[in-house]
Amino acid sequence: MERFILNYGTSGQWYGTFTHFSALAIKHGISSRFGGVSKPPFHSLNVALHTGDCDESVIINRQLFCQGIGINSEHIVTAQQLHTDHIAVVTKEAKGRGAGSYEDAIPNTDALITNVPGIPLMLFFADCVPVLIVDPLQRAIGAVHAGWRGTVEKIAQKTILSMQSNFGTKPENCLVGIAPSIGPCCYVVDEIVINKLKKQFNNWEELIKEANEKGKWYFDLWKANVRQLEEIGVKGSNVVTSEVCTACNHELFFSYRKENGATGRIGAVIVL
Ligand SMILES: [Zn+2]
Repeated sequence: MERFILNYGTSGQWYGTFTHFSALAIKHGISSRFGGVSKPPFHSLNVALHTGDCDESVIINRQLFCQGIGINSEHIVTAQQLHTDHIAVVTKEAKGRGAGSYEDAIPNTDALITNVPGIPLMLFFADCVPVLIVDPLQRAIGAVHAGWRGTVEKIAQKTILSMQSNFGTKPENCLVGIAPSIGPCCYVVDEIVINKLKKQFNNWEELIKEANEKGKWYFDLWKANVRQLEEIGVKGSNVVTSEVCTACNHELFFSYRKENGATGRIGAVIVL
């Protein structure tokens, strides 16, 4: 059965992979927070530049993480993530954008897609949902940052539709990995979120559960992302959800909620 597993990298970092991507020899990885050089509260493998951490540490952490999975950290393309539903098509000219500085990252973007080999797409997370996509037939990939806003705006669905229009991707051929992020056990939201959810999802009631506090609900971001992909024809059997909650496991992953916003970011990277 296809699943999410933790591996120990050659440069001393734990990182996650999806077995259905590995079976196709697609290099990818989800970093954990162990084995880096950043000081608290970014300890220790923070791979995002915009967090207040020292840039030099982040660059070293990126090298350590990427080396461990056989990716050149100088080639990664990153984005200035703003909880939008904006998707960028990454061309060969973009190689290395944002690898060394935040200012150079692709602005105002929360999903990256490409069909160019050798260009690693990398996005950053602390509780938000990383969605990685592989189209093995048209040879194209996507990386998505989906917090509640992106999830409700269906950025994962829009990303596959963008792969369809740009690369001829058929949703039914796509393999998807949903990486560690805040789970339905810990993610409590208020009416603002629920009202937006109701507008976008017919089956919204299946995605929430009443919390103990009045006017609060548990929101299942994982299921909401799977549902929006199934709506366009992605097969449920092609989606692997790690079912690892970053708030429950904040010693292993960064959690924005658990650590009150003062924390680092894990990275999700994928390359053709
Ligand atoms: Zn949890």
